[in-house]
Amino acid sequence: MQDKTLKCKDCGCEFVWTVGEQQFYLEKDFKNEPTRCPDCRRANKAGRQQRRPRY
Ligand SMILES: [Zn+2]
Repeated sequence: MQDKTLKCKDCGCEFVWTVGEQQFYLEKDFKNEPTRCPDCRRANKAGRQQRRPRY
């Protein structure tokens, strides 16, 4: 296995999908390659949590 360069569909930047992460995906039996860079993935999660209104 080798590190793979993928393109993020959110920001369009290229990011490295490391061998370690690929093995993690294999272990979890994920069929799809990641479509977002780690930054966007994090931003997405954070954004979703922030959008929830707090009283
Ligand atoms: Zn991105």
